[in-house]
Amino acid sequence: MKRRCPNPNCNSEPSRIPFGHYQDPKFKPIIRKGSFYRHRDRRFITKYLCKQCGKNFSASTFSEDYRQKKRDLNPIIVKQFASGTSQRRLAILLEVNPKTIVRKFRLMAARSRLEHETRLKELANAPIHELQFDDLETFEHTKCKPLSVALAVNKKTREILSFQVSRMPASGRLAKISRKKYGARKDERGLGWTRLFETLKPIVSHEACIESDQNPHYPRFLKRHLKTVRHIRHPGARGAITGQGELKKLVFDPLFALNHTCAMLRANLNRLFRRTWCTTKTLEGLIDHLSIYLRYHNTVLIRS
Ligand SMILES: [Zn+2]
Repeated sequence: MKRRCPNPNCNSEPSRIPFGHYQDPKFKPIIRKGSFYRHRDRRFITKYLCKQCGKNFSASTFSEDYRQKKRDLNPIIVKQFASGTSQRRLAILLEVNPKTIVRKFRLMAARSRLEHETRLKELANAPIHELQFDDLETFEHTKCKPLSVALAVNKKTREILSFQVSRMPASGRLAKISRKKYGARKDERGLGWTRLFETLKPIVSHEACIESDQNPHYPRFLKRHLKTVRHIRHPGARGAITGQGELKKLVFDPLFALNHTCAMLRANLNRLFRRTWCTTKTLEGLIDHLSIYLRYHNTVLIRS
């Protein structure tokens, strides 16, 4: 691999080096200069020197884990967060401070989002013809503050294409209690669907077939953002067992890809377990967790 100098004010291209060095074809502006031992992953790391500006650096300078003390934990953290482990339990299992876990959780989420953006650009070259979408309900802190996760999946591969988390008001018998305790809660689902369809726009074919349940709001939003696609609405079905909203009783479930993905979310994200002890505290935390899971689901789980 060709090394470059990390100093932004230095130009170590040999052809531009003054003082006559450029006349020597063997002159190399960057040379190896020793190594150091990194205890955490028990490796020797090569060090370099830029002869042009005198800057010392190492093979680790350009790594995305540069200056991280516990870089070996990063891949473990991604796997565990996509496998139903809580943040506190992970801190105990890995014998690190819970704050380390929170920081790494946020960092891994940000990385996953970047990777997914690249994937979406790839998909823009091969638009999708069949996809399904729906909402999954959860809550932040209490059931009086529900959240809605709008989710779109590829029907053939079950790849999660995009998701949006939005706040929504409580319904049913909790509606009154919720208003009394926490005041009126805005319904932001419309904004969520708008954002979802806008991210889908570049990766969906013009003649695509999009399936969903019979939510009365969907056709309006879909028409507004994806005008040319065909929309098929399937009647809803009951869960096989009470509390198994995603696993349907039907012999043939027309929204299988989506329902199966939602069931996997419920099984693999501890904050989405049914009757769980562990709940979402903030909307941002849920978005981060879903981002980590999305990448793991798309690159590992559906491919194994
Ligand atoms: Zn330099």
